[in-house]
Amino acid sequence: METILVLTHVDETGAALSKASLEAVTAGKELATRLAATLVIGIVGADVTTAANALASTGARLLAVSGERFAQPRYASDAAACEALCRVAQATIVLAPGSARFTRVAAGVAHRLGGLIDTHITAIGGAEGVEATRWFYRQRVEAVLSRDARPWLLLLDAGTHAAFAGETGAAQVEQVAVELPEPRTTVSGIRAPMQDAQTIRPDAKMLFVTGAGWTKKQPDGQIHVGEAADLILGFLRLTGASLGSSKSLVDQGGDGQPVLPFLTHLNQVGQTGATPRHAKGLSTCCHGEEPHVVGWRFIGDRRAISLDPNCGWTRGKADVVYVADAFTVIAKVNELLEAKKA
Ligand SMILES: Cc1cc2nc3c(=O)[nH]c(=O)nc-3n(C[C@H](O)[C@H](O)[C@H](O)COP(=O)(O)OP(=O)(O)OC[C@H]3O[C@@H](n4cnc5c(N)ncnc54)[C@H](O)[C@@H]3O)c2cc1C
Repeated sequence: METILVLTHVDETGAALSKASLEAVTAGKELATRLAATLVIGIVGADVTTAANALASTGARLLAVSGERFAQPRYASDAAACEALCRVAQATIVLAPGSARFTRVAAGVAHRLGGLIDTHITAIGGAEGVEATRWFYRQRVEAVLSRDARPWLLLLDAGTHAAFAGETGAAQVEQVAVELPEPRTTVSGIRAPMQDAQTIRPDAKMLFVTGAGWTKKQPDGQIHVGEAADLILGFLRLTGASLGSSKSLVDQGGDGQPVLPFLTHLNQVGQTGATPRHAKGLSTCCHGEEPHVVGWRFIGDRRAISLDPNCGWTRGKADVVYVADAFTVIAKVNELLEAKKA
């Protein structure tokens, strides 16, 4: 019989569990129910009381490695914490969020335990055993993996499961003691870009994609890059959407053409770019060409604004296409959103 351990960690508030951790909890609950297996949840953080109470209704055995030394992500402390949780739980299947914090340590933990790991898991199925699904070759080939080796660690991609939300209660947590050597890494603080500059937001409900049209000559014969930048940043500020881009637009900087300074190749969506997962996507000033649309595979509701009634989006690649001037539409949408906020 399998023993399923879900490894979780707190978010940047230091108290609540990260959304990706809560998604892993859902995956663990579903798997444990299906296999009638034991469910254990391990929590890593400085103070895990709030996080544990939020898991009270799971009915799982709760383990924690806590204390100031586990407040910050650090290889030595996180790897030791995860290893200890796996050993105490005697886990055969370990599910963990594919967050920056756990992705860094999970392979090392699997090695220490003599187990195996698979990453980028998007679904867990199987009637009798455990079958993990992941995509290869830029989301074109889907594989279903099963393994006899135990423990088997599975890192789950974010956005593939609903985040667990249950009644808060007074949870019983078993503390797992971890002896750490004197740390050689100290975290002195976090230097992060301003919230407005953080344009890639994997947890956002909407993906807003900009195409090369924003920097093309408009009907008045002029380019309006400054206005485009204001409209795009205004939309992101008002909606909290994540920013994606076509390859053509992010490539323009290297070609010496007018650019939107906040766009980098990290924003690029497509065959050679990212494959984000958001409930909705709105593409603007983009033609909807195949290599770009490859990245839209997991977007639920796809919409586009393009001047061209014959663009790729209108040829079956979007659910709704507005054949309109994106400068006018986004200016109006921003105005309505401002009015709603006021
Ligand atoms: C091997 C290979 C891999 C590739 N990988 C990728 C990839 O990963 N990602 C990617 O994005 N591309 C990729 N491409 C490039 C891709 O094929 C397209 O060339 C690119 O995505 C087109 O970008 P675009 O739609 O922004 O620009 P354009 O094709 O120039 O289209 C601009 C659009 O904006 C519209 N427009 C202009 N002004 C306005 C306005 N005011 N309002 C509304 N609409 C307006 C125009 O009508 C036009 O449809 C790849 C290509 C190859 C060959």
